[in-house]
Amino acid sequence: MIEQLQHTHIDTHRQLQDFSRLCNLPVKAPDVLLYSLERTDGKRSIVHIGDIEIGGTEIVLMAGPCSVENPTQAWEAAIAAKEAGATVLRGGVFKPRTSPYTFQGMGPEGLILQRAIADNLGMRIVTESTGESNTELVAQYADIIQTGARNAQSFEFLAHVGSIAARYDRAVLYKRGAAMSVQEFLWGAEYILAAGCKKVLLCERGTLLSNGHVDFDVEGVEAIKSLTHLPIIGDPTHAVKESRLVRDRARKAISAGCDGLIVETHPNPEQALSDGARALRPEELVYIGDDIVHNMDSRRTFCGNARVNKD
Ligand code: PEP
Ligand code: MN
Repeated sequence: MIEQLQHTHIDTHRQLQDFSRLCNLPVKAPDVLLYSLERTDGKRSIVHIGDIEIGGTEIVLMAGPCSVENPTQAWEAAIAAKEAGATVLRGGVFKPRTSPYTFQGMGPEGLILQRAIADNLGMRIVTESTGESNTELVAQYADIIQTGARNAQSFEFLAHVGSIAARYDRAVLYKRGAAMSVQEFLWGAEYILAAGCKKVLLCERGTLLSNGHVDFDVEGVEAIKSLTHLPIIGDPTHAVKESRLVRDRARKAISAGCDGLIVETHPNPEQALSDGARALRPEELVYIGDDIVHNMDSRRTFCGNARVNKD
């Protein structure tokens, strides 16, 4: 038996040919990234979400709570996001928690609440689908479907999200796994793209670096920018453990060339049901605009206000 296994040759090229035929794709060698590498025309892709363009000259700010908890908290966090210049409201309703005994999210009720708040404020929403059972529901309500770091190499799930996103014409915010190489990250994105979704936003959210710490991967972002045409969003919140470090990582993300940021805020971080220690207070979030304006490339613009700089 063992001998048989040792001689089993997995023919990845044949598998890819079968896969390509099934998906009606041109057949390429197995080590070729079909969709996520640089475009042949050398241009960067712009992902349109309503009238928001991601990957062009405008830097986009996505902000909101880690989790949608109740109507008052969700509304106050959304107002904070809007005042800081965010055009996309974030907020998890299906939460991928490390412990099964902590808050798992409000579920569908939270999704309806977040949609109503965003419509009221003229914002778009991004929220996570944690598994196949909630992808379609998320696609029905959200403009951008987030896939989490913990699911970054759940390939079947990524392909599923890609096909649902294509069907509903939604974008996917694909977060990098905390221990994934750039190459692995691009292969993961490829699963979403190959399933039919062409609106993929990559997201760097803190990676295990060579110094043994998880932190914002500046060099990774630079490599990704040079390798692919896809927009990349920086998440300075999950890259650190404490909120006092978020602004520094936001600046680094923008200097590295990110096309936008996704940042967590909470009206009362001490009471937050998830990620309270990393959440910016509304009065801290407004200064993220400074970090964007003072660190972005001169060809870029940001629709929020830069305030008087204050650390
Ligand atoms: C989140 O966005 O709240 C989240 C859980 O992020 P990540 O998957 O990057 O840990
Ligand atoms: Mn969070």
